[in-house]
Amino acid sequence: MKASVGGYARATDLRHALDLLAAGDGSARILAGGQSLIAALNMRLSTGDLLIDINRIDALKGITCDGSRLRIGALTRHAEIAVDPLVARHAPLLRKATDVIAHAAIRNRGTIGGAVAHADPAAEFPACVLALDGIIHVEGPDGARDIPAADFFVDVFETTIAPDEILTAISLPVAEPDERQVIHEFGRRSGDYALAGVCLVRRAAGHRIVCISVATRPELATAAMARLDAGDPDGAVAALEEALDPPSDTQATAAYRRHLAGVMLRRAVADITGETA
Ligand SMILES: Cc1cc2nc3c(=O)[nH]c(=O)nc-3n(C[C@H](O)[C@H](O)[C@H](O)COP(=O)(O)OP(=O)(O)OC[C@H]3O[C@@H](n4cnc5c(N)ncnc54)[C@H](O)[C@@H]3O)c2cc1C
Repeated sequence: MKASVGGYARATDLRHALDLLAAGDGSARILAGGQSLIAALNMRLSTGDLLIDINRIDALKGITCDGSRLRIGALTRHAEIAVDPLVARHAPLLRKATDVIAHAAIRNRGTIGGAVAHADPAAEFPACVLALDGIIHVEGPDGARDIPAADFFVDVFETTIAPDEILTAISLPVAEPDERQVIHEFGRRSGDYALAGVCLVRRAAGHRIVCISVATRPELATAAMARLDAGDPDGAVAALEEALDPPSDTQATAAYRRHLAGVMLRRAVADITGETA
């Protein structure tokens, strides 16, 4: 089936894109890599939208570091994140995540801004950005807003970004010298969305855990984090499994996803401690 769209406009700069979005009066959609949006349009899950192509906006591209924060432009492709030396040094979790996101063709087009704005609870980057305590930078008709990742994700495909705003960048604190960042997930085949996954970060202030594919949005697993801070990995796994209420679907039952999340946390802990799970 072919997509049913209400038009196409290529924005020349951010101001132009915001004006087009405002003129669309609620029926305009930002087109970034198109790897989720075009699929949804082709399946007629979404119809009639004016597509605003932001791919030529240079202000949304590039990765910079000011010493304390890493800033990644919304249009940065997954494939660029995979090989960028600043990402590898300051946010290795994102680099590791690119190993398990989809296939090369999708990573060549998909953008981090699109992945975070799309807010799929099965996607890796939203979970990583929350695990790293990132900030999502957006711009709208009234100016710029900085939204902590903890306040950004609301529900499946739902965020606190307003319909007339554009996600411009994501920023993250640079990793501390002894910080560890790992991602472990389980999928049926290479490139599939995970049935369950875990992002684990260990910093001086404590552990941060965010799961993938087991809830309606990325959330901090606070009870499990407290058990890991107390040096109790078994308690952390039990607390995680106790707290989760995953969906059952054709891919996996709730019980299986819950079990997998526990196994992935065990592997993640073993990874950062150098022990075997
Ligand atoms: C077969 C397949 C397998 C995949 N597997 C995985 C996987 O394993 N893991 C994973 O994480 N992802 C996976 N993806 C999704 C992929 O990573 C997408 O690229 C990503 O989710 C969306 O990024 P995009 O740039 O393509 O966004 P688009 O598809 O262009 O946009 C997605 C949504 O975000 C909005 N949007 C985009 N950019 C902005 C912005 N800057 N500001 C405001 N709104 C914006 C759009 O309007 C749209 O609603 C898969 C996709 C496919 C087709």
